[in-house]
Amino acid sequence: MENKHQIGLIGLAVMGENLALNIAGKGYSVAVYNRTPDKTRQFVAKAPGLALAGKFSLAELVSSLEKPRRILLMVKAGQAVDELIEALTPLLEQDDILIDGGNSYYQDTRRRAGVLSAAGIRYLGLGVSGGEDGALNGPSLMPGGSREAYDELAPLLTAIAAQIADKPCCSYVGPDGAGHYVKMIHNGIEYGDMQLIAEAYHVMQQVLKIPPAEQSSIFSAWNQSHLKSYLIEITADILQRQDSQTKLPMVDVILDSAGQKGTGKWTIHSALELGIPVPTITAAVYARFLSTFKTERLTAAQTLTGPSLIHDQDVSDLINSVRDALYASKICSYAQGFALLKAASANYRWNLKFGDIALLWRGGCIIRAQFLDKIHAAFTHNPHLTNLMLYPYFSSELARAQQGWRKVVGVCKQLGVAIPAFSASLDYYDSYRQNTLPANLLQAQRDYFGAHTYERIDIPGFFHSDWTNLP
Ligand code: NAP
Repeated sequence: MENKHQIGLIGLAVMGENLALNIAGKGYSVAVYNRTPDKTRQFVAKAPGLALAGKFSLAELVSSLEKPRRILLMVKAGQAVDELIEALTPLLEQDDILIDGGNSYYQDTRRRAGVLSAAGIRYLGLGVSGGEDGALNGPSLMPGGSREAYDELAPLLTAIAAQIADKPCCSYVGPDGAGHYVKMIHNGIEYGDMQLIAEAYHVMQQVLKIPPAEQSSIFSAWNQSHLKSYLIEITADILQRQDSQTKLPMVDVILDSAGQKGTGKWTIHSALELGIPVPTITAAVYARFLSTFKTERLTAAQTLTGPSLIHDQDVSDLINSVRDALYASKICSYAQGFALLKAASANYRWNLKFGDIALLWRGGCIIRAQFLDKIHAAFTHNPHLTNLMLYPYFSSELARAQQGWRKVVGVCKQLGVAIPAFSASLDYYDSYRQNTLPANLLQAQRDYFGAHTYERIDIPGFFHSDWTNLP
């Protein structure tokens, strides 16, 4: 009788193929299926020697698996996942495990987990980060859903995950949609990190006129500091690359119009629902939207005026200030991301372990950075920390960096150079640390036109005034 496979994988695009190779490379036998059968044939043919078997119908795939069956979906997020679940459910039995490794919306995962649990099928919503390379060589994995299913799959998942200091970047996150939620926040933070780096580049290009190759050396130097991270590393690499056709720097031939797939928008959406400010991440998503209005911007550039770009800043001093602005803003951005995780954990009763989440992101994923060790330390020191900025290391770094940060924001405002995420981060910091905000006036306005009442600083309770008759 034919040996059964240990896991099935559906979806052989870039992520599925590479994960299948990773899993098979760790000694597991994998049955693979793709909607378009040619892809299955081609994939299996180019990976001889590995325990990979092509299957050409869902029924053939399911019947080729050991029980309880484990099937990893690596297909386009959205309707495709629902269609596959619908087609697979009648083929599966009690206690089989379905894993969705795509970038599914966490509310979809919550819904699917409920439906499948009622059918006796165990479901995992698995956040996977690291792109093609991560999938092949070790991604960051954020599993959520059935704890029992995770425990059974843990040997496989921890084996294929990135390893940092002999620890896998994979641990159970929480029930139902928690894994996909954490992946969504990872992506929101990634938007913030990328925009902040882009603004550092923009200031050095617009204000200081530093060419890309020279900026590459600056970013390389920063990558030896507390800013050390994958995104800084690839930025240094990108900035030294030349277009083979024009011999111009690659960044100079790339259109300044950025795409997005939606996880940043979902992050903001959740932040709005839960009432948590995430201005750095929001600025990053909006910056991408605005970048796509290229034609409008070209017209506006002819019409709307700004100040001249002439300044008298000391170049090396301003470069150091940009570095400080980048680091301080990054702290604010992560503080926002973790504040959102905290609110979601309470709202959905996920009991998220924030320190462990920081460890998941140290390797394999796009936001991997030395900095995450500090976040882990912060939540180890105090698992109930209200806001990351209050952890002594971060508050002292913000105090140290703020002079340069304020200088960059001030200079850019004066010169008319847009730095939305640097500014939003500084406003977040300055708002959060205030004893007094102008919301007293907002409350007065609300009470004036809508009788919404207000609280007083001296007497408890809610009050309404007849404003037009006040002395
Ligand atoms: P993708 O482009 O998102 O999806 C393509 C795959 O989905 C193909 O195998 C396609 O099959 C299959 N598919 C689409 N609609 C289907 C349907 N109705 N029924 C069955 N199969 C269907 O692929 P990807 O980039 O490898 O990503 C896979 C998942 O991982 C996605 O959720 C993505 O968001 C997530 N992810 C991607 C990355 C990345 O860097 N690309 C990183 C992390 C997570 P056909 O070949 O038949 O069209």
